[in-house]
Amino acid sequence: MNLSELKEADEKINSIIVFDDEGLVASSKSKKGELSTLNLAVKANMCVEGLLTPAGSKTLENYIAPYDATVVSKLKSSGATIMGLANMDEFACGASGETSFYGPTQNPAAPGHIPGGSSSGSAAAVAAGFVDAALGSDTGGSIRNPASHCGVVGFKPTYGVVSRYGLIDLAMSLDQIGPIANDVETAAKVLEAVSGHDPKDSTSLKLDPKFYQFHKELKPNLAGRKLGYAKEFNDLISDAGIRKVIEKSIDKLSSAGAEIVDVSLPNLKVALPTYYLNVYVEFYSATRKYDGRRYGHKIEDVCGEEVLRRILLGSYISQKEYSGKYYRKALQARSLIRKELSEALASVDALVGPTVPKLPHKLGSEITDPMVMYAYDVFTVPANLSGLPAGVVPAGFVEGIPTGLQVMGDVLKDQVVLDVMAGFEQL
Ligand code: GLN
Repeated sequence: MNLSELKEADEKINSIIVFDDEGLVASSKSKKGELSTLNLAVKANMCVEGLLTPAGSKTLENYIAPYDATVVSKLKSSGATIMGLANMDEFACGASGETSFYGPTQNPAAPGHIPGGSSSGSAAAVAAGFVDAALGSDTGGSIRNPASHCGVVGFKPTYGVVSRYGLIDLAMSLDQIGPIANDVETAAKVLEAVSGHDPKDSTSLKLDPKFYQFHKELKPNLAGRKLGYAKEFNDLISDAGIRKVIEKSIDKLSSAGAEIVDVSLPNLKVALPTYYLNVYVEFYSATRKYDGRRYGHKIEDVCGEEVLRRILLGSYISQKEYSGKYYRKALQARSLIRKELSEALASVDALVGPTVPKLPHKLGSEITDPMVMYAYDVFTVPANLSGLPAGVVPAGFVEGIPTGLQVMGDVLKDQVVLDVMAGFEQL
């Protein structure tokens, strides 16, 4: 699909908000490379030199990125064609794709429903067949949640495997960039191209170069794998149809030779409040630079309701007199969740389970209670709180709406997670 075809086709979906109209990105990319046959979109919170990078917000409506994010320069050097920047919830705060200043994105796989978020445009562009793959960012599920709702593959790597340099932060200690694609093989290929140590990102890991060969090493294999399923998952899935799809997926994995092991995550329900307290504090601090002097508008003057809520709560919690009450407690709970997950993962190769507890709501249903929106994240935030790799593969449909199986591994077990995903994809 060329640029003008894409523009026309996307009028109904609104997945891409900035196009490479002047061929700026196209002319600066390599002609050869592993990804030279692929068209990609990157989420609009990753800097692409010379293009508007607004992060879905009016705050940055005039922000032309002066440099490439590391993932973008890696895509260019591997020959990928970047078609444009994908729509997203404002500053990646959201789970529906509805909070973008550029308007909501449609779900091509379930028309009339939200595509999920916050990497709404990335998942929708892949699901609609506009691009072969896209990059998303995942702070609490923003790659996996839209991948599940749109019926595509999404992967969030171990924290530090992909550089965050040039990514507009939501919450630094949780944010991770990863691929969205129609199949695990393409996702692994894109991940292989964008991952690696980056001296420009102080949290980037320096690992053996062999670690990053996700595509070359991909082995779809389930026989003999020990896969954990937590009984607490069942209590938190609120949709009976999703529960059925996940049960069926577990049966399929077992028939393919995997051993399903019961594990326990008693503090799973604590993950959601822990996540939001961490996000409020980190997001508040990340947004202090948007004071209207250097970058566009003062954020509080122009942002949407959810972004403002996070700034206000973050500022409140960050006050010295409350630090022991909220933030320190949230950090303690974060350690507890990390410990619990790592204990559960010690006896298995990976955990398998649901991605989202409920089906995507209808676009425009105007959800006013933030807790209703936050509830989408219950199964995805634990991986971010613990820095773990986690991916999603399409598992089936409920009332015609896709839902995905989530596979989660221990830190640095990215290859195991991808292999299990690839194995499941073939069933
Ligand atoms: N829905 C979560 C939030 O609103 C996750 C967002 C994300 O992963 N960027 O914070």
